[in-house]
Amino acid sequence: MHAPAPKEPAIQLSPSPGDEVKTTTCYMCACRCGIKVWLADGKIRYIQGNPAHPVNQGVLCAKGASGIMQHYSPARLDKPLLRVGERGAGEFREIEWEEALQIATGWLAPIRERNPDELAFFTGRDQSQALTGWWAQQFGTINYAAHGGFCSVNMAAGGLYTFGGSFWEFGEPDWEHTRYLMLWGVAEDHDSNPIKLGLGKLKARGAKIVAVNPVRSGYGAIADEWIGIRPGSDGLFAFALIHELLRMDRIDLDYMVRYANAHWLVLRNPGGADDGLFARDAEGKPLCFDQATGMAADAGAIDISPALVGEYVLADGRKAVPVFQLIAERYLDPQYAPDAVSERCGIPADTIRRIARELAQAAFDSKLTLPIAWTDAWGREHDEMIGRPVSMHAMRGISAHSNGFHSCRALHLLQLLLGAIDAPGSFRYQPPYPKPIPLPNRPGKTRKANGTLDAGPLGYVHGPEDLLVDEHGQPRRIDHAFSWAYPLSAHGMMHTVIRNAWAGDPYRIDTLLMFMANMSWNSAMNTGETMQWLTDRGDDGEYRIPHIIYSDAYSSEMVAYADLVLPDTTYLERFDAISLLDRPISDADGAADAIRHPVFDPATQREGRDVRGFQSVLLDLGARLGLPGMVHADGSPLYRDYADYIVRHERSPGVGLLAGWRLLRQAQDERPIEVHGKGAPNPQQLQRYIDNNGFWREEIPEHARYFKMANRGYLEWAKKLGFVGSTDPIVLQLYSEPLQKFRLAAQGHGERQPPEEHRERVATYFDPLPIWYEPFEHDQTSRDTFPLNAVTQRPMFMYHSWGSQNAWLRQITARNYLYLHPDTGRQYGIGDDDWIEVRSHHGTITVQAKFAGNVQPDTVWSWNAIGKRKGAWRLARDAPEAEKGFLMNHLISDKLPKTNYANADPVTGQAAWFDLRVNIRKLSDATGQAQPQFAPLGFDEASEAPLRYGAALRARAYKR
Ligand code: SF4
Repeated sequence: MHAPAPKEPAIQLSPSPGDEVKTTTCYMCACRCGIKVWLADGKIRYIQGNPAHPVNQGVLCAKGASGIMQHYSPARLDKPLLRVGERGAGEFREIEWEEALQIATGWLAPIRERNPDELAFFTGRDQSQALTGWWAQQFGTINYAAHGGFCSVNMAAGGLYTFGGSFWEFGEPDWEHTRYLMLWGVAEDHDSNPIKLGLGKLKARGAKIVAVNPVRSGYGAIADEWIGIRPGSDGLFAFALIHELLRMDRIDLDYMVRYANAHWLVLRNPGGADDGLFARDAEGKPLCFDQATGMAADAGAIDISPALVGEYVLADGRKAVPVFQLIAERYLDPQYAPDAVSERCGIPADTIRRIARELAQAAFDSKLTLPIAWTDAWGREHDEMIGRPVSMHAMRGISAHSNGFHSCRALHLLQLLLGAIDAPGSFRYQPPYPKPIPLPNRPGKTRKANGTLDAGPLGYVHGPEDLLVDEHGQPRRIDHAFSWAYPLSAHGMMHTVIRNAWAGDPYRIDTLLMFMANMSWNSAMNTGETMQWLTDRGDDGEYRIPHIIYSDAYSSEMVAYADLVLPDTTYLERFDAISLLDRPISDADGAADAIRHPVFDPATQREGRDVRGFQSVLLDLGARLGLPGMVHADGSPLYRDYADYIVRHERSPGVGLLAGWRLLRQAQDERPIEVHGKGAPNPQQLQRYIDNNGFWREEIPEHARYFKMANRGYLEWAKKLGFVGSTDPIVLQLYSEPLQKFRLAAQGHGERQPPEEHRERVATYFDPLPIWYEPFEHDQTSRDTFPLNAVTQRPMFMYHSWGSQNAWLRQITARNYLYLHPDTGRQYGIGDDDWIEVRSHHGTITVQAKFAGNVQPDTVWSWNAIGKRKGAWRLARDAPEAEKGFLMNHLISDKLPKTNYANADPVTGQAAWFDLRVNIRKLSDATGQAQPQFAPLGFDEASEAPLRYGAALRARAYKR
């Protein structure tokens, strides 16, 4: 007798999601998680987090899963477009690529011949800056930047000038060991999955999470304590914590001497040209005062007993004090006591005192040590690693203020006093960081004989000599970055480009080339005028910005303002390098980079669709223009496309965009072997990445994972991989000499001094120790007229305007409200769902109000980038995003209320989005439509019927 055949289960519980699976990298936000894209019948069936990927370990968020609808978005552009109507109307005719590239070349070639700076090339949330910045350098224009200037350059520069690293892509909390995490101004769309994974570990272990944010949204909601701080006062709060730690003598002096410059001597010579500079020996080495010998000594020596307080007389008679003396003098001042700052910060003084105690307890009383032997940079051997399990993480909330640079420095000073940078349990560097302070690469400023710039257009200034100013001290860049008004603008100032290009300040440009930056809408301050500048004509009847070339994958609001549109692919149709030269995906235990590769050919996806990856187009244009490095000697293209460039381009010998699977040539008759880090190009490199889930990662040896700035094992490992040039320790800079050099210049010293109109500003804000001051808009507007702060938050389920047009994510929310505390509503006679007018010194909007208890009462807030212009993104004209959604941007001026400076930080030029002050009043005659409204753009409307996807595919899958 035969046993009955097993029955097919009625329901297939684990059907295969598709016919084949490809592993690549997500681009639905900036985290760059690994994804597995399942295909069925050549269409995307399902996107899954890749468990083998180091960034997300299989976790996928709502945005990542909705990548299907990003790829199949009705808003996708299909063909190159040439404007036929008025600029801004969105009327185009489709053209072929050859015509588009000829037009672009026809505009760009004379510029390169005449004056490359007439090209302003600015990119948005570009993950290929290692290419785009290099392309600009080869073109020879100084006018290049990506979006960091309007995002978080305060945080990046604040960190890099202090400890050679930063939060976000440069480092992470020690998720395994931290016992106390402070999140400062962190929204949920950045560092999304990695931080969620980390927070999960902390919650499981019972570590304390404190969220400092005027709005208690996602991460704040799961925090053990929410501190609803008043916007712009984070630095003051940090100073009060520092004051308390100093007062209680709960600081790590040993750490500050071993790894930082607490003992370095600062010259005290008021009025002198050397005042505030470090005392140095004949070789330029910083000095300290050795208590054992009673003499000045090399501050980098280890067999000395350096003084930390007092005033000393050097052999040449000059007076000097240790950095720590200056710190104590400044922050023990009663103006920083908890009682003094409590009202301004909106935090009870007892809470500040308690948080300071808790920080100290977590750092010093928890006795965390890791039994890992290691050797420091001076050769001393240690049996264990002593931990400081306090970590901080911050984002745009602290940095998008006009006092953001110093607030970020204040946070880092707090970390350093606790000995909590790269110690077990604290914030940890991710390779290739730490880097020397300041970073050695300075912004390019002169053109070589072949027309290329002498260095990349962006970089780190070390002193006034590095500024890009003319002989009168006036800006040389169109965005005024690296000028006396914004000297340390390491990421450029994208938010000033359109106004300046329109105004011809400091000169007229010919072509504005932009990529992935919605600059006529949610990426602009002063949105209304920005649209006018883009369309304004001069007396000759021609547009004041003669040519605008724009590349995007979608019919965003900015597309309408282009003369020539170069349609980009979606992230699933392209090669990309997530490079260590750019914004890597390393973690604190290993260096990593990754690629994207096409999961299918764009040509097969929609009839008539003819799009190209912007990076390949850029290389094609470069070849047509004959740019050095992009053509052979005979003028033929050097690179087939971006994939070819990723593999073959070398930035310096052996250093390319990807560090994995490079080649080491052996003796002539032997086959080269594959190596990681430095090595020759490997034709098989991309396939190696594809075979390895799309990424490469190399673990840091266990003994080299902490104290990276002075860990011999780490520095040797980093040098081998090309991250640092030497194994010298990187000394963390509590006191910043480059800032003091600017202040001295403003005080009348040195060859390069600021023009008269900038002197006071530079002297005030270039303080070598962190300072706090009222954000400019708070200071320059009346608190009676504009009593409320207004900020935006980024939802964890959307990433800027990309996410808010996605059919699946729109089902979570398709419009925004202005959220206010119920007490605030009552105070202003406003009820839930009332329509209200919101007014700033700059503009007025009409919006619908919603009560929310998750906000500090004198702050109102809304989600970012949900409001859309009618006609954009091929949404229906009456889509909720356009009818009821709104932008706060209309309220935000690009200039300060009382001066001609940009609404930005005076050190870095970072856009001060969160300085906004408003008043609100109930409207009795509202129409139910958000205001302002603008003429609808001319793109076709897509069907607004429920967008179903995959039903047929699902039926097929269940039958399998
Ligand atoms: S966190 Fe960002 S990168 Fe990761 S899955 Fe979500 S959208 Fe993609």
